[in-house]
Amino acid sequence: MKKYWRCHVCNDIHLGVKPPEICPTCLQKNAYVEVSAHEARGVMSVAETSVDKAAFAEAIQVFAAEREFRVNPDRERIDLLLEGMFNNESNHGLKYCPCRMIEKDFEKDLTLVCPCNFLIHDTYKDKEDGECWCGLFIKRSSLE
Ligand code: SF4
Repeated sequence: MKKYWRCHVCNDIHLGVKPPEICPTCLQKNAYVEVSAHEARGVMSVAETSVDKAAFAEAIQVFAAEREFRVNPDRERIDLLLEGMFNNESNHGLKYCPCRMIEKDFEKDLTLVCPCNFLIHDTYKDKEDGECWCGLFIKRSSLE
């Protein structure tokens, strides 16, 4: 069955059974996360049909599997972050980062759709125990 996939680096949307191994737009390897039709269409500027929190929580676990990062094991923190993201989706149309402010500039704000390109954040790349701005994703090495 075909699903929607979004490159977390450049927001390229792919519809297919599996995501491409290499993003054809930014050439990043293993960069796709499964998203709802709502999010895919939102990114492509269309609309409708949503995914629930449990499905999103599952999707980010799959996204992080076998990568250099993993989803934060702190359930309370994750619940809080998902709450913020889903509030942003209700209020602003997409699951924008729960700890950063959108600017109401669609192109700029696309860089804040979760998961964002957190591998380039100072909080992630410059630290042994790095994490994304909100701590949703944590470097695996810091937990092992
Ligand atoms: S900083 Fe973390 S929580 Fe925020 S959008 Fe990026 S990956 Fe998601």
